[in-house]
Amino acid sequence: MATIFSRIVAGEIPSYKVAEDENNYAFLDINPVAPGHTLVIPKKEVDYIFDLSDEDYASLQMFAKRVAEAMKRAMPCSRIGVTVMGMEVPHTHIHLIPINAETDMNFFGDKANVSAEEMTRIAQAIAAEMQQHSELY
Ligand code: 5GP
Repeated sequence: MATIFSRIVAGEIPSYKVAEDENNYAFLDINPVAPGHTLVIPKKEVDYIFDLSDEDYASLQMFAKRVAEAMKRAMPCSRIGVTVMGMEVPHTHIHLIPINAETDMNFFGDKANVSAEEMTRIAQAIAAEMQQHSELY
């Protein structure tokens, strides 16, 4: 059975899409730790990130770098924090989170309360930054 993230990539479940390329997809986390919290996934359904082939791992990380750079331009933050856990959804995903302090990377506290309108605006702002700088890649 397809993972929930594969169903998002297929368009069967809606997402606040940020970007995609041939192999990878980026979308806002539905329960964000901070506004702009983004998940970057390979389209290929592999549970554990270090089970990806070298080629797929490199592709995912390069794509995540592009997304993080766009997030940094689109969001007011000092840097983009990076975490991989994957204990909940068995489909590799990199968490990218705009932060100003270490405590902003708190997966175990209160989640950010971001309205649907704000999620849409943030996803569009990051997507626009990706497109504006597409010549860089
Ligand atoms: P992890 O597996 O790394 O512990 O966390 C899984 C993440 O996926 C969580 O941050 C959770 O909010 C997010 N998530 C789970 N289901 C969905 C979904 O259907 N849509 C979106 N956008 N995010 C999801």
